[in-house]
Amino acid sequence: MTEAEVIVIGSGPAGLGAATALARAGRRVLVLEREAQAGGIPRHCGHYPFGMREFHRLLRGPDYAARLRDTALSAGVTIRTCTTATALRPGGVVEITDDAGPATLTAKAVLLATGVREASRAARLIGGEKPGGVLSTGALQGMVYLNHQRPFRQPVILGTELVAFSALLTCRHAGIRPLAMIEPESRITTRSPVRWLAAALRVPILLHSEITAIHGRTRVDGVTLATPAGPRDLPADGVIVSGGFRPDVALLQGSHLQIDPGSGGPVIDRWGRLSDPAYFACGNLLRGVETAGWCWSEGQRTAQAILAALQGQLPKPDGSRLVLAHPALRLAVPQLIGAGASGGPYDSLQVRLDRPAKGQLRLMQDGRILAATRIDSLPERRLSLALPSTFGPGPLTLTIAETP
Ligand SMILES: Cc1cc2nc3c(=O)[nH]c(=O)nc-3n(C[C@H](O)[C@H](O)[C@H](O)COP(=O)(O)OP(=O)(O)OC[C@H]3O[C@@H](n4cnc5c(N)ncnc54)[C@H](O)[C@@H]3O)c2cc1C
Repeated sequence: MTEAEVIVIGSGPAGLGAATALARAGRRVLVLEREAQAGGIPRHCGHYPFGMREFHRLLRGPDYAARLRDTALSAGVTIRTCTTATALRPGGVVEITDDAGPATLTAKAVLLATGVREASRAARLIGGEKPGGVLSTGALQGMVYLNHQRPFRQPVILGTELVAFSALLTCRHAGIRPLAMIEPESRITTRSPVRWLAAALRVPILLHSEITAIHGRTRVDGVTLATPAGPRDLPADGVIVSGGFRPDVALLQGSHLQIDPGSGGPVIDRWGRLSDPAYFACGNLLRGVETAGWCWSEGQRTAQAILAALQGQLPKPDGSRLVLAHPALRLAVPQLIGAGASGGPYDSLQVRLDRPAKGQLRLMQDGRILAATRIDSLPERRLSLALPSTFGPGPLTLTIAETP
């Protein structure tokens, strides 16, 4: 039975942004959300700043999520919460489970917007004992904003990307005073103005530093850092582990759809189409964390590609897989780029590094530079390279001409 013309899996900013645009264009849209409430990660981020791009005003995360929901519902979107998509089958067939048990839904197009997962402490290879009080930012926000708990008083924050600053704001809200933010690199990761927040809140950022051990039997009672001046102990009573986000591809694993080992997300073309053209993807699922506004905008643009697909106006899937030809390159999205096919919501490459690199990022074909931009970047920072509108058939290569 066809339940909707478009099924959207995931009700964060990307999914609801797309669903709203599709419904406003007159399409029947069904959003599936496994949580009891729609809105995605911002539901747990009880701080500013959300909503400037979407609603032209500054909102707290939960108010922003509510506004996304209300806007989608008034556009005519149907949202089914407490409903988990469990498997994807060829041609837009989605298996789900909810209170009523398992069921199968079909649609002409399915948009995947399932977001990211945070890396665990084990994945970050932090040694020492295994006491309570080691939390991801998401877990901290759930405790602080949803359960009104204060899990510690003076933790350290591992990481300096966007979400680490979200952790800082969450601490401030709960009256928690972090002892330090810990950054292994020589500068902080985020580029945005939030970097000044740490100074304003008088939280030192320790560069060139790493947590080598977490101490304590039942609770954290200290951490040891490796610093340029040698080992250093801090009397922290908790650790917030931020960063290391990976696309949530639980649904894609075991499906017929291709996953990109670099990004950890699905392989897409410049229309956001997956290897089965009934499926599209947008938001953090593609590559790891971006801001909510960025993901919402991707949702809006991917909706336009889905509308074109429903009207039979998208070019046939075609395009060779972009080759990453430099060891500092971790990912580039979209991965499939067709010759001569300009347009589409992903008309720029989104690139991220595995290690700091400086030089010229180059898109090459047959030894010719098709597009280039200067970079001086850290891992987890966004890099963009506009795709050329015309070029010939054949494989494309992305590389970096490094300068010392
Ligand atoms: C801890 C944290 C703090 C952040 N703080 C900020 C901030 O302060 N400001 C800012 O601009 N950005 C912030 N961000 C980034 C921003 O929140 C995200 O980029 C944005 O929410 C991503 O939107 P999304 O729609 O791609 O995914 P998400 O918001 O993650 O939504 C994905 C949704 O998919 C659902 N889902 C997953 N799998 C299934 C399934 N199988 N079936 C049904 N539903 C499923 C999930 O339950 C979730 O609701 C933060 C991110 C994190 C992780």
